[in-house]
Amino acid sequence: MPLSSMTKAMEGNSRNMRFKDGSRIAIIGGGPSGCFFANFANRLARQMGLNVSVTIFEWKHFDRAEKRGCNMSVGVLSENLLRRLDSVGISIPERCIQGEINEYHFITREDRISLHHPRPGHRPRIVTVFRGAGPAGSHFKEDVSFDNFMLTTAQENGADIVHEEVKEVVLPQRPEDKATVVYGSNAREFQADLVVGAFGLNTPTMEVFEKMYFGYVPPRATRTCILETPINEDLTAKNKDGDVIHVFALGTHDIEFASITPRGDYLTVAIVGKGDISTPQVKQFLNHPAVLKVLPGGEKILKSCCCVCFPRISISTPVQPYADRLVIIGDAGVSRSYKNGIESAFMVAQLTANTAFRRGVSKEAFKRGYYDPARHIFARDNLYAKVMFKLFNLFASREQNLSDRISYAKIHREGWVNQQINDGLWKLVTGDAPYREIFMELFNPRLQFALLPVTIGAVGMFLKERLGLKAKT
Ligand SMILES: Cc1cc2nc3c(=O)[nH]c(=O)nc-3n(C[C@H](O)[C@H](O)[C@H](O)COP(=O)(O)OP(=O)(O)OC[C@H]3O[C@@H](n4cnc5c(N)ncnc54)[C@H](O)[C@@H]3O)c2cc1C
Repeated sequence: MPLSSMTKAMEGNSRNMRFKDGSRIAIIGGGPSGCFFANFANRLARQMGLNVSVTIFEWKHFDRAEKRGCNMSVGVLSENLLRRLDSVGISIPERCIQGEINEYHFITREDRISLHHPRPGHRPRIVTVFRGAGPAGSHFKEDVSFDNFMLTTAQENGADIVHEEVKEVVLPQRPEDKATVVYGSNAREFQADLVVGAFGLNTPTMEVFEKMYFGYVPPRATRTCILETPINEDLTAKNKDGDVIHVFALGTHDIEFASITPRGDYLTVAIVGKGDISTPQVKQFLNHPAVLKVLPGGEKILKSCCCVCFPRISISTPVQPYADRLVIIGDAGVSRSYKNGIESAFMVAQLTANTAFRRGVSKEAFKRGYYDPARHIFARDNLYAKVMFKLFNLFASREQNLSDRISYAKIHREGWVNQQINDGLWKLVTGDAPYREIFMELFNPRLQFALLPVTIGAVGMFLKERLGLKAKT
């Protein structure tokens, strides 16, 4: 077909694939990305004077205490996310907030540094929440679930909620036809002008979409570990402030980084590995001397803790998370690696809802309005994260090296070097800035020049170790 006819055909398709009165949106998954999309869609429909219905299919009940009601995460809501929620009139109720974070401690093998917000005197608002009804065995008088609050908010904003599992989606043969969502045990059918896949990484739904063969290749993901332990007397003494998150860069072989976060009466341990995390790596982390100083008990914690789970975290960009009348967002779509998944879910939901309402729901519209810009924002930035974590691990795995840099920063407490290291690490642990900006800050030539004595010392020690070893063998 000549190019001009192809363009005309595409324009015709796009015209056929725009919302009109009576259009229906089906969202698969009522986690953060599904709820954000529902809110944006209902708001845009109102603004454009369109009668468009939004239905969320979510098979979990987040307010129920059993395990299946929880979308596993550490539940730290960053200052940037809270600001974004505020801008769309969403304010998290006090009953859902488990604590406020005022400080981060960055811990290496031999040392620790306490980090503060780069703007002097600024007290950032960072809060912790439970995604489900709280750790197993916990009893709260009120509904504390952040995800349930988000789902209820989406409902109040006009979305219908169907608590059923979606089994299958059938895409239309012709652009003007609708997609079919098959759900529930009786295989009921729901016709939709747009299907939004907001199903995350932790259910088989991702594979169902991959096997629809429209070109979707899910992001690569690794298994992390989250465990929850009640704060007993021993832990209260060690974590008496209750507002500090400890972040660990220990340079061990399998672990990329880890954190211990207070959430109300519990401590949440999160371990992210270079590959999948399983019990041996969890034990290795819990038994590490630097960890024992914060969380005594070592691997015995595994016996006394109330929850352990192994959720997946995305480490790459998916291929073609869109088709005519279908778009995949949140963790299963293009997202930020490692940090602030909920904030990136917000940004992508906004981008895709705007695309659907303003450009239409065709494959071309989602490529131009979502995939290309989201890749521009996140995919390249995620590469900086990868390089940065590799360098951190390289430094941290060499005895003394990262610790020496931290000690240097502590000794030169008032100086530019200290400020630069503090600012870069603060942004890294809070996820407050793009990875590129953090990289430029931490690997800035002036800073590296200032740290040259430490680097030379470390290289010298490394060579000495190597030569010593060689001499012995
Ligand atoms: C170890 C770890 C720690 C993290 N800590 C943080 C943090 O502190 N702060 C932060 O911002 N982010 C954090 N994240 C990331 C965050 O959890 C995710 O980015 C976020 O939950 C993504 O939202 P989502 O809606 O895309 O997916 P999800 O939250 O996974 O929601 C998907 C929903 O879809 C539903 N669903 C799936 N399939 C179907 C189906 N077939 N039918 C019906 N319903 C279905 C599921 O039940 C689920 O409710 C962390 C992640 C990990 C792994």
